[in-house]
Amino acid sequence: MKNAVLDVIVTGAGHAGLSASYYLKKYGLNHLVFERGKIGDSWRTRRWTSFKLNTPNKLNVLPGFSHHEDDPDGFCTAAEFASTLELYASMYQLPVAENSLIVLVEKQENSPLFHVVVERNKKRHDYYSRHVIIASGVQNEIRIPSFADLVTPDLMQLHAGEYRNPDQLPDGAVLVAGSGQSGCQIAEDLLTAGKQVYLSTSQVPRVPRSYRGKDIMDWLMETQFFDARKEDISDELLLNLKAPQLTGTGDGKHSISLQSLAKLGAILLGKMEYIDEQDAYFELNAVQHVQFADSFSHSVKMMIDQFISEQKIDAPEADPDPEDQPDLKSSRTSSVSSLNLKKNKIRSIIWATGFNAGFNYIQLPVFDSDGNPIHRNGISVVPGLFFLGLPWLRNRKSTLIIGSDEDAKFITEAVNRYSMAAVKQFHNI
Ligand SMILES: Cc1cc2nc3c(=O)[nH]c(=O)nc-3n(C[C@H](O)[C@H](O)[C@H](O)COP(=O)(O)OP(=O)(O)OC[C@H]3O[C@@H](n4cnc5c(N)ncnc54)[C@H](O)[C@@H]3O)c2cc1C
Repeated sequence: MKNAVLDVIVTGAGHAGLSASYYLKKYGLNHLVFERGKIGDSWRTRRWTSFKLNTPNKLNVLPGFSHHEDDPDGFCTAAEFASTLELYASMYQLPVAENSLIVLVEKQENSPLFHVVVERNKKRHDYYSRHVIIASGVQNEIRIPSFADLVTPDLMQLHAGEYRNPDQLPDGAVLVAGSGQSGCQIAEDLLTAGKQVYLSTSQVPRVPRSYRGKDIMDWLMETQFFDARKEDISDELLLNLKAPQLTGTGDGKHSISLQSLAKLGAILLGKMEYIDEQDAYFELNAVQHVQFADSFSHSVKMMIDQFISEQKIDAPEADPDPEDQPDLKSSRTSSVSSLNLKKNKIRSIIWATGFNAGFNYIQLPVFDSDGNPIHRNGISVVPGLFFLGLPWLRNRKSTLIIGSDEDAKFITEAVNRYSMAAVKQFHNI
């Protein structure tokens, strides 16, 4: 295949890249999917041992493929989902080249072709294509605050993407920075193993695991919550919300909240401001973070109540959910603004502080001043270059597995239209 001109090159074999490949194959477009590791690499290398997906199996569907009829409401592990992706690729004979890291995507001025450089077995290979679909995900570089450099080497530091299980950590307490989905799930994993956890919280919404007889994901699908498009939402805060606190460990069927982690023994602190060799410093906003999550959960439940009433659905009353109970008296938070690491026996820190997309390999004028891709519905400002898997690419579910079919179909249709137009132009039709 070396130096052959392809119709399309796809970067990355996660669910987004594989879904694109499925449709490209249907259109008869000659393409290759380059994957730096193995198929489903993010699920294999960026998740912890006890991790379970928080979307039930029946929602983890790919174009032309649903694999979970035996346990539609169960939650699979990351390894199981990676195997599902592998099975999918082999079932449809998708052209995936594994262990192939894309180090450059560029286009010379006036050239109709993209030049893609792939590193494999320590050698560089050149490829050319008429179109490129970027599906390399948004979690390729770990994001850690720069003050982490000041932490003494006696403490073990891990990013959430590097955390595997409590046995990896030295004895003593753990400081978890960030209370998004990863931070809360890792805190729960550590608490369950008997570790003392200090959780530095952040402003993250929460949804209950289930409500009025159904899993929350079922309600969010039915109410079309996930179908909201960016243009429908005027509130910047809503657009920039993190993924909600929702469990991903154990049977996956309980709610998780800051106060439920506190009940398990976590000390809830505000957002970490700074850390040095001896002390960690925190803003005094843990109470606001608990209230924010409580109020988001309340508003989601109100939305569901309204939907049930408008649609005249025969749904049971809500069962009591102790993990989702609002902490009205803010009794579960600490008002400590600094912690001495040694005195509190903190021997490790887990930075659950997110990822960067790592788009440096794309050397094209397609990014704004903040480094975000400039696109509309995944069609970028550079002709022939497309994106998949970005938050709000086309709607709220664009980063979820359940959103990949619609988005991949839309983008590959656009690619196919461009291809047909180019063929017509070539033949002067
Ligand atoms: C902790 C966590 C839990 C999540 N849980 C769920 C869940 O339960 N349900 C759900 O629907 N969504 C979940 N998501 C969101 C989402 O589904 C995942 O982020 C998903 O991995 C995104 O799919 P993707 O195909 O866009 O990207 P990825 O799965 O990250 O796939 C991108 C692929 O590109 C490869 N790649 C990257 N750079 C290069 C390069 N330069 N050259 C070649 N290959 C490259 C990577 O190795 C990777 O295999 C979760 C996300 C996180 C972070």
